[in-house]
Amino acid sequence: MSDNRDIPSKVIKNDPWFGSYADRAEAMRASEIRALFAVASRPEVVSLAGGMPYLDRMPFDELAPLLAKMLKDKGDIAWQYGSAQGDPHLREDVLQIMELENITDAQPDDVIIVNGSQSGLDLITRIMCNPGDSILAEAPNYVGALGVFQSFQVHVVNVLLDENGLIPEAFEQAIIEQRALGHPVKFLYTVPNFHNPAGATMSVERRSKVLEIARKYHVLIVEDNPYGLLSFEGKTYPALRSMDPDNVVYLSSFSKIIAPGMRVAWMVAPPGIRHKLVLANESAILCPSNMSQMTITTYLDNFDWKAQINDYRGMYKERCDTMDAALKKYLPYCSWHKPKGGFYIWLKIPEGLDSRAMLPRAITAKVAYVAGTAFYDNGEGTDHMRLSFCYPKPARITEGIRRLSTVIDAERET
Ligand code: PMP
Repeated sequence: MSDNRDIPSKVIKNDPWFGSYADRAEAMRASEIRALFAVASRPEVVSLAGGMPYLDRMPFDELAPLLAKMLKDKGDIAWQYGSAQGDPHLREDVLQIMELENITDAQPDDVIIVNGSQSGLDLITRIMCNPGDSILAEAPNYVGALGVFQSFQVHVVNVLLDENGLIPEAFEQAIIEQRALGHPVKFLYTVPNFHNPAGATMSVERRSKVLEIARKYHVLIVEDNPYGLLSFEGKTYPALRSMDPDNVVYLSSFSKIIAPGMRVAWMVAPPGIRHKLVLANESAILCPSNMSQMTITTYLDNFDWKAQINDYRGMYKERCDTMDAALKKYLPYCSWHKPKGGFYIWLKIPEGLDSRAMLPRAITAKVAYVAGTAFYDNGEGTDHMRLSFCYPKPARITEGIRRLSTVIDAERET
């Protein structure tokens, strides 16, 4: 990766526009994960850092002639501008995907196609939050969401989670405290399934409680759900949106179930919010790419996408099992909860060690992870690291954990 993040900071300080930037640009921070990307992608390094889906099982060879045909037959649409709300055909298709998580009442008009859920997070924050407003979010928090919230100068209030997801009492307490301080609480941001980075999944009982509290205090919920279909047991959980359509803005994405390169994701929102989201999408990008959306519909219409997702589930389960077994063998004194789906294990390292300080030594030992501090905006997280099992093959995962154990063992002895 070579973009401006790779430029040494002294060059950035000599920037002639230094001092001219808007406050929101000053609030932006480079993601620790992006900064790691260049090092972690060296072939000799086992990267347990990135959350890249493993795409080798996608039927790209079979897809290629169908895409060529699509461009030949419908090139006039694919190369053209389109609707700010997204391709109606794709909006129809995503209804079938959402049915798997009990969302059965949505109509194509309720759906907005966005440039990846990352863009969706930007849009919802843009339309809901003024600088200084509070939003509540699980801590640790998805690093990309933190980046968005920082850029809008939003105050992120950490709400505790455990292996069963967000703790409802902590959620209620946080609302009461923020209101007592006079801070408007604009929404709760939650990743209920196979959380990134914590791996936790919100129990069905807690889902009802969280929705009840949200209703009681009139707090909107932003449900970010890119991993929900990647459950290892084959069990899907009811989306919060399915349990309370009026109070939830739902986001999901093709990034983890098909491929992230198309940058196609979708949102479902109550009518007033949806209207603003479409306006915000239009103002940010005019319209999502027809080419990308039609690539996705060509795939969905011609392949057994449910079988593909099942195949991914099996593959990621095997990788998770491998990482869990390797951790038990090489790092038995660390602690973690084995996730029920998704891409990540959130590892607690022994007291007194600092995952961020240790990272250069891990890179020297040819293994990469993301330090826990990336998932907080207040310096917490030194006692954790996020380990991704999605991309490396099982043997590499085991080798990566072995290498990591040599680093942690050495740290414990010093
Ligand atoms: N939300 C979460 C929780 C994620 O883990 C990710 C990707 N890592 C995203 C959103 C962004 O996904 P997309 O590729 O659709 O922008």
